[in-house]
Formats: sequence, structure tokens, C-alpha cells
Amino acid sequence: MSSPTQREEHQRLLNDEEGTIFKDAPNRVALCYPSPYRAAMSSLGYQSIYRQVNECESLAADRAMLPDDAQDMLKRGELLHTMEANRPVAHYSMLAFSVAYELEIAGVIDCLRLCKLPPLATERPADAPLVIAGGPLTFSNPVPLAPFFDIIIVGEGEELFLELCTVAAKLGFERRRVCEHFAGKAGFYLPAVDADLCPPIAQASMASLPARSQIITPNTELRSMFLTEVARGCSRGCTYCVMRRSTNGGMRAIPPEEVLAGIPSHASRVGLVGAAVTDHPKITEIVAHLVDRGLEIGISSLRADKLDDNFVSLLGRGGYRTLTVALDAPSQRMRSEIERVTQERHVIRCAEMVRRHKLHTLKLYMILGLPGETDGDIDELVDFMMRLHKVHGKIALGIAPFVAKRHTPLDGEPFAGISVVEKRLKRLRKGLKGQVIVRPTSARWAWVEYMLAQGTSSAGLALYDAHLAGGRFADYKRAFKERGCEPTGPVARVLSSAEIQRSKREALRKRLVVQQ
Ligand code: SF4
Repeated sequence: MSSPTQREEHQRLLNDEEGTIFKDAPNRVALCYPSPYRAAMSSLGYQSIYRQVNECESLAADRAMLPDDAQDMLKRGELLHTMEANRPVAHYSMLAFSVAYELEIAGVIDCLRLCKLPPLATERPADAPLVIAGGPLTFSNPVPLAPFFDIIIVGEGEELFLELCTVAAKLGFERRRVCEHFAGKAGFYLPAVDADLCPPIAQASMASLPARSQIITPNTELRSMFLTEVARGCSRGCTYCVMRRSTNGGMRAIPPEEVLAGIPSHASRVGLVGAAVTDHPKITEIVAHLVDRGLEIGISSLRADKLDDNFVSLLGRGGYRTLTVALDAPSQRMRSEIERVTQERHVIRCAEMVRRHKLHTLKLYMILGLPGETDGDIDELVDFMMRLHKVHGKIALGIAPFVAKRHTPLDGEPFAGISVVEKRLKRLRKGLKGQVIVRPTSARWAWVEYMLAQGTSSAGLALYDAHLAGGRFADYKRAFKERGCEPTGPVARVLSSAEIQRSKREALRKRLVVQQ
């Protein structure tokens, strides 16, 4: 049994949920999320996999998330339990993690420690549960995940995950046999066999789209919102982005009738999700239908060049108070460099529409520290923000330092430097004189993200050392140094599936490093 505190907390959360699945099946898997509940239940991928596994006759999925008080639980020696079955996660035959971004790997380590399982795969005994990963991080660089997992599904994992569950069940969830079965198969990365050689990003078929929520709950970052995908992928070419058209062939739009048919009648708030939702050719039709039904709406990605008065007025009727669009880079020169189509006139028009339709705030987000950026670009940003402030008084600017990602044209570009990013932020703030709200993310943690995004499995091991040493920035700096981590530069070329399968079979013949 879980401790009364953990059980009480689970019960409180379950009581507030609509759509929870309690199911009996011969095979149960634990779906683990390495961040707390409110983030887990805002993840469309996590929710969608929960639904899909439970739709399979012989399978049932129970959820477990990183508890808010994980460190206290570790001190008390308390075991992590699942929500639906109140069963120790370590007693499941398979633990499947969804990992969204690099720094979340620390949450994976804590979840495994809360199961009393060695976080490093090579230290787990042969009869330990299978530990697998998938999720958004696998679109960029899953290699730092390698030390912790038996199998990693790379890219769009819906069908591959169900295949993995079904085969693993048939093989009695035996780690060695399951790993042997999947070695060399497209979309499956087996760190024990493949070392740092990761396969290309998998693509799901249209039949498994759209991803949809299963559970509606008020206890998430997206309070009581039902999420549904309207498109997968993106047809644009922003050079820093892993979702660009070169990943899985551009945008695949879901027909409006399919999107609308999947929204349950009890949903009162609907979130439309996709890499570039406003590029969907029928997005106005979908939003108008929902707003006319009296639903509140949220949209994951608005593109400034796609908005018009009709659309913004629909957003206002759908409960929007803050219009959030991407500005992307500080100057027109830098926006052109990264192949963004957004121009000043698009953003000025957004500010005018925010004022006209009586929304509250225009929020812009952008990247700082792109290759080739100078102080002159920051000065242009200051000038533009001041002009924008005159159009609409309430402007907020969200800023993230540039981190080069795999599978993008900017792969291998260096990090600008913590001091450079901080100096440019200072220059920006000074120029804006408090007229515009500036919300930057930390340059230090962006550097840690960069070391992982451009790193190999040794960067994952450095994160492990740093996290166990206390997880402070200084711990990371020291651990990267001690592990000899250097960003590896761009991946030379993407190997073909045939080449990868050949090399995997060869590696498998030589060694399958799963402990007996
Ligand atoms: S940044 Fe947005 S618009 Fe650009 S490629 Fe990525 S998802 Fe598409």
C-alpha cells in the first residue's frame, strides 16, 4: 500500500477527474511522467497514449507521475505508486516514460529511485521491469536518455508503442527477449546495442491521428481543458525548429469533422493543439463551430501572419484575454536568417487587433543569442517594442536563449554564452525602461540544455552525477567537465533505415548488453 499521504493525494486528484479508466486486463503497464501531475495531464501525448493502451483488449495502463514532494519521499524511503491501481510502480512489468525536454531527465532518475530501481539500465538485474521512453525529446536528441532506458521509441510513437506492449506481453516482458526482438527495427533505439547511433524519427499513420485527451481535470496548467490535435507537423522551415517541414514531410491536417467528432459533449473548454495550428486550412471553420457552441477555446500556436479581425474576434468570444504570437528573433535581419516569415507589420496588426477586440495583453516570444546576432539587433528590438507599446499598452516579451537542436539546419551551432545572453538582456531592459514586461528564461539552464541537446550518452551520465550531487548549476558544470562532455557538433548525415538495421544486427551479433 502507498502511504496515506500519497494515497490521499491520488484520491483527491482522481475525485476531480472525468474520464479516468479503471480496467482489468491480463497485462498492465505503468505510464510514468517525470514531472508532476499538473504538467503530465497537460501533455496531449501522455493522455493520448493512456487512451490508446486502454483501448487494447489485453492491456491496461495506470498512471504515475513525479510527486511534488519527491525529495521528501526519497528521504522517507517511500515507494512511488500508480494512481488507478494504487500499486508500487516497481511491481509492473513495464515502465513507459514520456520525456518532453532535456532537463526532465532528472525527473526520470527520481521516479526510478522512488521505485527503488537502479536508474542506470546496466545496473538493473535481468528480472527488473522493462524501462522504455518516448515523447517530444526524442524528436531532437534522445541519446542522453540512453543510460537509463532499455528501449527508446524515436519520434511519433503511437503505433510503435502499442506494438512494443503487445510483443513484450507475448514474450513475458523479459528484458533480454524483448530487446532482441526490437533490435534493428525502424523507430526503436536500443542503447545497449546501438550505443550513440540513433535511428531516424518515426512517423505515425493518419489512422492513429488525431491525438486526444482522455481525462479532463481542473488540476492542470490547462485547467479543465479537453485537448485535441488539429494537425501534426509543420510545413514551414524555421531553421532552429525540430518540427520544421524536413521532419516527417510537413503538416498533416486533420479534417474538421474528425476533430469535432472527437470532442465529448461534456467538454466546456477545448484546446486545439499542433505545431502550427493557424496554418490548418480550415482552422477558422473549426474555431467558429466551437465558439458558436459556447465553448471556451485555447490554441497552442498562433502565427502573426495568419491572424485577421474575424479570427481574433472569435478568439475573444472564445475567452481569450492574452494573444500570444511568435516574434522569433530581435530584428528583421535575424528573422530572415532563420527563415521566419513574420514581419513587423504582422505584429503591429496583431497589437491593433488586440486593442480593437478588447483583449488584455499581446504576448510575444522570441529567441535571443542566435548565431550572428549583434547588439544592433537588440537596439532594433528596443525601437520596435517602443513603437508597439504605443499601439497597445500591455505588451509582454517571453525570451528563451537559443539552443541548437539535432535534425535542424542550425544543429551544431554554438551557445552564445551565458554572459553574452545576460548582457543583451540587460541592454534590452535598459532600452525598454520598464514599458514592456520582459520574462526571460535562465541563460545558465539554457546552457545545461545545450550541453544535453548537443551531447551523447556521456551528457546523460553527467546529468545523473549532477542531479545526485544536488542538481545545482555548479554541479552540472563540474559533472560535464569530469565526464569530458563536449558538444559533438552536427550529426554528419542521417543514416538510411537499411544502414541502421545492418549496423544494429551486426552490433547485436557481437553484444547484447543486458545483464543476466
Ligand atoms: S517554429 Fe513553428 S512555424 Fe516554424 S517550423 Fe517550427 S512549428 Fe513550424
